[in-house]
Amino acid sequence: MANTHLYKPNLVIVISGPSGSGKSTVIDALCKSDETLRFSISATTRKPRPSEVDGIDYHFLSKAEFENHIQQGNFLEWAEYGGNFYGTLKSEITTAREAGKDAILEIEVKGALQIQAQDLSPARSLLIFIIPASFTILEERLRRRKTESETELKRRLAIAKSEVLEIAHYDFWVSNPEDAVQHAVAQIQTIIAAERARIDTQLIETINPLLGVDKSD
Ligand code: 5GP
Repeated sequence: MANTHLYKPNLVIVISGPSGSGKSTVIDALCKSDETLRFSISATTRKPRPSEVDGIDYHFLSKAEFENHIQQGNFLEWAEYGGNFYGTLKSEITTAREAGKDAILEIEVKGALQIQAQDLSPARSLLIFIIPASFTILEERLRRRKTESETELKRRLAIAKSEVLEIAHYDFWVSNPEDAVQHAVAQIQTIIAAERARIDTQLIETINPLLGVDKSD
């Protein structure tokens, strides 16, 4: 759903939201609806859940492997969450760009703010926060999926509250009420479409030669 033939994918789309906000479901649906989006596969030291596949859901790494990537400067951002490390490899962004796609990242708040603070040019970031309907619903969702222990669940709920406090740093928010994935997906599609239509230096550089304008003019 690129805006026009003039658009060259250059977005690093960051989607955050508390654990249990339904981010993964929304992003799955979003990527299926738009083949010009490429999901950035994060690296993590967390153990895989039964349904997760290495190289598809995450790059599952040992702590030593993760630390090695930090030392090599391979991460665009990384953060500690709930006792594990998570990070976006720079190569994920390059791969998206080379495939002519916008990268879409599902990451927590500290990593999102690291991305926002960087000059990614010619790319630029777009930060979207998914707000759950309520903390009660969040807790219900986390309990229903049965992927965390009680201690881990409590820890995730505490982090959720501190994450929502950071929403002021984001560009857009989207609500994800219960059973309304399509609603959240449609809201994000609208935001992405608007962002792709933004007039930026890349668009001007594309358009000038078409108009016969010399850069030195
Ligand atoms: P989970 O363990 O539920 O898969 O993820 C825990 C948290 O880590 C979620 O908020 C998720 O968005 C975040 N996360 C996943 N990948 C990354 C990443 O590459 N970087 C950062 N900073 N957070 C990530």
